[in-house]
Amino acid sequence: MQTKYIITTGGVISGLGKGIVSSSIGRLLQAAGFKVTIVKIDPYINVDAGTMNPFEHGEVFVLDDGGECDMDLGNYERFLNINLSRNNNITTGKAYKAVIDKERKGEYLGKTVQIIPHVTREIRDQIHKAAKGFDICIVELGGTVGDIESMPFLEAVRHLHLTEGDKNVAFLHVTLVPVLSVVGEQKTKPTQHSVQRLQEAGIQPDFIVARSESRLHKKTQEKIANFCNVQAENVISDPDCKSLYEVPLLLQKEGLDRKLMKKFGLKRKKAVNLSAWRKIVKRMIKPKKTVKIAMAGKYTALSDSYVSILEAFKHAGAVNNCEVEIEWIETTDFETDKKKVKILDKVDGLLVPGGFGSRGAEGKITAINYARKNKLPFLGLCYGFQMAAVGFARKACNLKGANSVEIEKNAKHPIICILPDQYEGINMGATMRLGSCPCKIEKGTLAHKIYGDTLIHERHRHRYELNPEYIEVLEKNGLKFSGKAPKSPIMEILELPKHPFFIATQGHPEFKSRVESPAPLFVHFVKACLDKKA
Ligand code: GLN
Repeated sequence: MQTKYIITTGGVISGLGKGIVSSSIGRLLQAAGFKVTIVKIDPYINVDAGTMNPFEHGEVFVLDDGGECDMDLGNYERFLNINLSRNNNITTGKAYKAVIDKERKGEYLGKTVQIIPHVTREIRDQIHKAAKGFDICIVELGGTVGDIESMPFLEAVRHLHLTEGDKNVAFLHVTLVPVLSVVGEQKTKPTQHSVQRLQEAGIQPDFIVARSESRLHKKTQEKIANFCNVQAENVISDPDCKSLYEVPLLLQKEGLDRKLMKKFGLKRKKAVNLSAWRKIVKRMIKPKKTVKIAMAGKYTALSDSYVSILEAFKHAGAVNNCEVEIEWIETTDFETDKKKVKILDKVDGLLVPGGFGSRGAEGKITAINYARKNKLPFLGLCYGFQMAAVGFARKACNLKGANSVEIEKNAKHPIICILPDQYEGINMGATMRLGSCPCKIEKGTLAHKIYGDTLIHERHRHRYELNPEYIEVLEKNGLKFSGKAPKSPIMEILELPKHPFFIATQGHPEFKSRVESPAPLFVHFVKACLDKKA
């Protein structure tokens, strides 16, 4: 069948959850039997998100193919349980770079190269490339309509509508309908204005998804329909809910999937059955138990910096029928006063996530060593793996001056280092060990129990790794490397057989955790924390 496109735009304010709406629609159409993919457009000039600060922009999400991209791709994968590629994230930088590269190669010889048509055509081509082989391609346009930087993208999708035909392209505009507390009335003016901006760009939305505190009143819905030139039944209510995973169920109730199929002239390929999804969401909303897990983060002010970990905990919590409460800990506190690490007595587990640079590193080592000594369940991810190895070298192997060369360039014992033959001439952009890497797991270990397999794949994003010269002394003193890269001396997973649950991985299992297929490491970690609590 010819690919159908759903273009999601946003109005009024940013952060309305366009990504969740796009993912939810995707999940619903997938449930109806269609092959669905999603593209995120980011109007910034960075070619990819690799060099962006998570504090400013939220987490850098990593794909199987090593693409470093916007965190919305994480939502798409979590909802749809699919693996996307770097083609699914288009940025201004990527589009312009492609055009400029072509210009330099002489591909437009003789022509004046312009935003319209050259950049807009490039954008269209990149959308087509990502959509190839799919029944439905959702394109989420980041930012808010009216931003200068999204203009070329609006023009590109306007043109896409023209060339693909109205039966094959649907525009869906997500807006905010606020309530003015004094009058208690749902206000539609901001929506009207943002739709006007869209219309000025030559785009008439087919659907308006209105984010609001509670359901839209009939009167509000009709008013939006009248002023925005949209059918009243296509003004969709999207009120606040407890869990973002409720949104597909909510939009299904509003009939959005059915209405989209009607617009496209499509019939569903199979009966929609979301009962498994519904069951998981129910467990998330009404958990039977709780566990408290300390998270030693650096970007603690912004949970968006760790969104995949937080979501992985929700998925793993649902499996264990419990809610995971996160206790954010600032590990620099333990550096000024080591006794402060005792706050870990109040939690059921410790997670040390990925990180860069030296800030808080010593505190992380203190926290991990505390978990080791006090039999507190511990999960280390990437940097957490590295700090666990350094801490163990210092305390259990008596290697004073053990460190990572990322923190101390001339460390006496460079436990974590750069393997020279792998990384010659490192630049800052896209030069880390990135994407899905294989890992062989030894039978009979905790890692084997967790994964139930001897060959696994996790996504990676790191520059440093365990120094092979120290494997022997670390293992002699009780550390076990239960997972290794098959063809190189890279240590992937470490564990402590004498501890109830102490495991760390050089990979990022959080990037592969999905609602309907949670990351095994998180599931078992949460279980271990529940056991500890009991
Ligand atoms: N900074 C460490 C490295 O580059 C860890 C990276 C991470 O945690 N993602 O190897």
